[in-house]
Amino acid sequence: MAAPRRRLTTTVGIVGGGPAGLMLSHLLSRAGIENIVLEKRSHETIRTTQRAGILEAGSVKMLTDTGVNGRVVTEGHRHEGIDLRFNGVSHRLDFQDLVCESVWLYPQNEVFVDLAAARKRDGGDVRFSVTDTQVLDLTSDEPKIYFTDDAGEDFELHCQLVVGADGSQSICRKAIPADVRSDHFIAYPFAWFGILTEAPPSAPELIYANSEHGFALISQRSGMVQRMYFQCDPDEDPSTWSDEQIWAELQKRVDGPDGFTLKRGPIFEKMVLPFRSYVCEPLRYGNLFLAGDAGHTVPPTGAKGLNLALADVAVLAKAIESFATHGDHALLDAYSDTALERVWKAQNFSFWMTSMLHSRADQSSFERKRILGELNSVATSRFGQQYLAEAYTGWPHG
Ligand SMILES: Cc1cc2nc3c(=O)[nH]c(=O)nc-3n(C[C@H](O)[C@H](O)[C@H](O)COP(=O)(O)OP(=O)(O)OC[C@H]3O[C@@H](n4cnc5c(N)ncnc54)[C@H](O)[C@@H]3O)c2cc1C
Repeated sequence: MAAPRRRLTTTVGIVGGGPAGLMLSHLLSRAGIENIVLEKRSHETIRTTQRAGILEAGSVKMLTDTGVNGRVVTEGHRHEGIDLRFNGVSHRLDFQDLVCESVWLYPQNEVFVDLAAARKRDGGDVRFSVTDTQVLDLTSDEPKIYFTDDAGEDFELHCQLVVGADGSQSICRKAIPADVRSDHFIAYPFAWFGILTEAPPSAPELIYANSEHGFALISQRSGMVQRMYFQCDPDEDPSTWSDEQIWAELQKRVDGPDGFTLKRGPIFEKMVLPFRSYVCEPLRYGNLFLAGDAGHTVPPTGAKGLNLALADVAVLAKAIESFATHGDHALLDAYSDTALERVWKAQNFSFWMTSMLHSRADQSSFERKRILGELNSVATSRFGQQYLAEAYTGWPHG
C-alpha cells in the first residue's frame, strides 16, 4: 500500500516559480501572509533558460522598491528609446522625450535569480523539482495541491487560496471546467527564429526592422552576447540553418542606404518561437486565481509577457492581503476584471506591433504599401510615437 500523503498547510499555495509565482510569494511574505511555491523545474534549469529581456519602468520599480534587490539597475541597461527601421532607414523613438520613461534590458533569468535569492534570504518556502502537481477542491474553502517533492515524498498542501502561476501550459487553467471559462485565442502565420550570438552589440538600443523580406529584431543581452530574431515560418527547423545563412537573412532585413552592418560572431543558440495571443476569462475559478502566462500569452513583439506577469501579481498581492488581513473579498472579486483591463490593452499593443512590423506570405502590394504608410504615420507623428512609447514603457501599475 502506498504511504499516505504528508499534510502541509499554508494560506496561499502557488503553482509555478517563474516571475509571477516568485514575485507573488515575495509580496505576500512582505505582507506577513504564509505561502508555499511549488515549481516543477530545477533552479539550475530556470537560471540557464533564456527568455524575455525587456522590463518596463513599473517592473523595475517593483524589483527595487519592494526590496528584491537593485541589480536590475546596477547591472541592467537602461534604454531610453528604440529604432523603428523601414525602407532601410532608422527612426529613433526617444522615450524620455516622448513620455519621460525608459525600459531596462535585463534578462528574465536574472530576474529569476534575483527573486529566488530574495525568497531564500527572507526564509521563503520554494520547492523546486516537484512532480505530479494536481489542484483539487478549488470551489471549496480548503482547496488542495497534491505534489511529490524532489526526494520522492508525496504531499497534500491545504490552502485557503491557490494561485496558478504555472505558465502557458498551466495545469491550473486546465482544471477550470471548459463551460465556465472563455478561451480567446489567435495563432499567427509566422514565428520568430531567435539566436544568441557571442558578438559585440550591433546597436546601443533595440531595432525593430520591417523589410520586404520580413521582420527582424536586433536586440542585446550583454557586452559580449546578443539576441536577434527574424520572422520565419512556424514550421522552420533551426537545425538546418548554418550560421552563414542566418547572418545573411538577418542582414538583408536591416540593409539600407546608411550601410548599417550587423556585428557577427559564433551563434550558440537557435530556436523557433511560435506566435500566439491568448486570454482565459475570467482569471478566477472558486478559490483558484490565474496569473501571468497561465492566464494569457502575447506574441513577443511588444515585450509584454514578463511585464504582464508582474503587473498581475501586483494586483493579486493587494487583493490577497486585503482578504487575509481584513477578511475583505472585494479586491479578490475584482481581481480578474482589474488585471484583464491591462491584459487587453497589452494584447492590443502586441497585436498592433506584430501586424505593423511583419509581412504575410500572401501579402498584396496594397497591403505592403499600407503597412509602410502606417509605419510612416507613427514615425513622423509625435502623437503616434507617444502611443507606442507609452505602451512600450508600460502603463502605471494600480
Ligand atoms: C523563448 C521565449 C522568449 C520570450 N521573450 C519575451 C520577451 O522578449 N519579452 C517578454 O515580455 N516576454 C517574452 N517571453 C514571455 C515571457 O517569458 C513570459 O511571459 C513570462 O515567463 C511569464 O512569466 P510566468 O511566471 O507567468 O510564467 P513562466 O515564466 O512560464 O513560469 C511558470 C513556471 O511554472 C512552472 N510550472 C509549469 N507547470 C507546473 C506544474 N504542473 N507544477 C509546478 N510548476 C509548474 C514552470 O516550470 C515555470 O517555471 C518569452 C517567452 C519565451 C518562451
